[in-house]
Amino acid sequence: MKEKMMLTIGHLYPEKMNIYGDIGNIIALKKRSEWRGFAVNILNISEKNMLKPGIIDIYFMGGGQDQDQIEVYKDLIQNKKKVLQRDIKDGAVVLAICGGYQLLGEYFTMGDGRRAEGLRIVPIETIAPSTKVAQRCIGNIITNLQPTDEIARSGKSTLVGFENHSGRTRFKSDKLIPLGDVLVGTGDNENAKHEGVRFKNIFGTYMHGPFLPKNPHIADEIIKLAMERKYKNKVKLKKLDDTIEWNAHNAVINKFSK
Ligand code: GLN
Repeated sequence: MKEKMMLTIGHLYPEKMNIYGDIGNIIALKKRSEWRGFAVNILNISEKNMLKPGIIDIYFMGGGQDQDQIEVYKDLIQNKKKVLQRDIKDGAVVLAICGGYQLLGEYFTMGDGRRAEGLRIVPIETIAPSTKVAQRCIGNIITNLQPTDEIARSGKSTLVGFENHSGRTRFKSDKLIPLGDVLVGTGDNENAKHEGVRFKNIFGTYMHGPFLPKNPHIADEIIKLAMERKYKNKVKLKKLDDTIEWNAHNAVINKFSK
């Protein structure tokens, strides 16, 4: 019998970095893979767990509270940074939401002045102004993928989600490509008008909600990239009936577009 193709998803710090339903992203990746006949193995990776290179196909890290981020950042830098860097360089796919996205950058300075050093994998920095001078960025968010993006060219170019962050993220390189341009909401910061990042096989975003169930085009891109890297072959994913997913996506657009 032919062996099933298999994906391994590494959920980084599921107890601490998993707010606003971020675990729904893992469920979406698992289900959409299984519906195509792939087997899925989910590994929860916490402070106590060792990370070995070459095991994980898709890394996922959700959002977190400032205090939890400080603890997680320390563990990542001390115990997991080298393996993560190596796997990412080798093409591992990463979906990092909000606090997870901030962590990929150089640092996150919190509203009370505490600073958490990041992984420095993506050239971004995040600074949260004091809550006395600025509010959190909270609300529904809609963006447009870059016109050059292969998924956008297939006609499905919008992303929808819900943002809730104090940190304002700035790009430190002109060459960095955002995930989307903001149509509704704040995104990375009030001035930039962009949201999230595409860097190697990394998807960083402020979108919670969770993100993937309402954005099935991105879920499939993540699965496809992971499969192609793992099996070193072009992969064409079987089409699924996404009527419900696109209804949910379009409901957000219809309700909140200006
Ligand atoms: N604590 C971070 C901030 O407020 C990230 C929040 C989140 O992950 N939702 O910016």
